[in-house]
Amino acid sequence: MTRIIAVANQKGGVGKTTTTVNVAAALAYLGKKVLLIDSDAQGNATSGLGISKADVDKDIYDVLVNQIPIEQTIQTSSRENLWVVPATIQLAGAEIELTNQPHREARLKHALDKIETDFDFIFIDCPPSLGHLTINAFTASDAVLIPVQCEYYALEGLSQLLNTFRLVQKHFNQDLKIEGVLLTMLDARTNLGFEVVEEVKKYFKEKVYDTIIPRNVRLSEAPSYGQSIIDYDLRSKGAQVYLDLAKEVLTDGK
Ligand code: ADP
Ligand code: MG
Repeated sequence: MTRIIAVANQKGGVGKTTTTVNVAAALAYLGKKVLLIDSDAQGNATSGLGISKADVDKDIYDVLVNQIPIEQTIQTSSRENLWVVPATIQLAGAEIELTNQPHREARLKHALDKIETDFDFIFIDCPPSLGHLTINAFTASDAVLIPVQCEYYALEGLSQLLNTFRLVQKHFNQDLKIEGVLLTMLDARTNLGFEVVEEVKKYFKEKVYDTIIPRNVRLSEAPSYGQSIIDYDLRSKGAQVYLDLAKEVLTDGK
């Protein structure tokens, strides 16, 4: 059965895109067929997997706003077994353009209905907001994976995220679950990071993944080569931890 997972946190820079790209690539490396849907106008997941945004003809915007069949947008990536529905800057208009459209929250869900069985996993890289794009992702998904950066104010804003989660559960997708909470960018040299780990575990308990993503410079370098960490440097710490996370996701996450 296909599992559809939205990677979301309305804070920017917490590791959503890094996590989406690399857990998707790790699962592909482990032999799963994976589709990554880039739902952020920045298009960082798109370019990070070797797709030139300048060459993209149709993207997720055309699926959501113009309702073209999603299969017309699917592209191969720099990783075998991993396909991408790209995003480009035109997606920035989608929040406003969807506002007055009927059943706007279910556009992505309906688009995926026809193709989801072609994949083992579908990951959606959400934008740093709780607008229509994130609501579409939540409505289409089985579960939400929440990256939390090991920094001051790590828990700040999470109550709004959980509110949106519950609203979508109540109105559009009653089976929606929390896939897991992922601690990211841990700096092992400071106490602060470990204090945040404890704080987040106190709040989310068994929902927190055992795998914690450390700061790893190879993870930040890989996107500029258009590669996931699996292809850029399989032996790096970054690759190992995202493979660990992929294995946790395979054993049904949290
Ligand atoms: P988001 O999608 O939530 O905005 P990103 O995944 O784009 O966050 O990460 C923000 C920045 O931090 C990027 O420059 C990325 O390369 C870097 N980064 C993310 N995770 C790590 C990590 N574990 N170690 C080092 N740099 C990271
Ligand atoms: Mg991002």
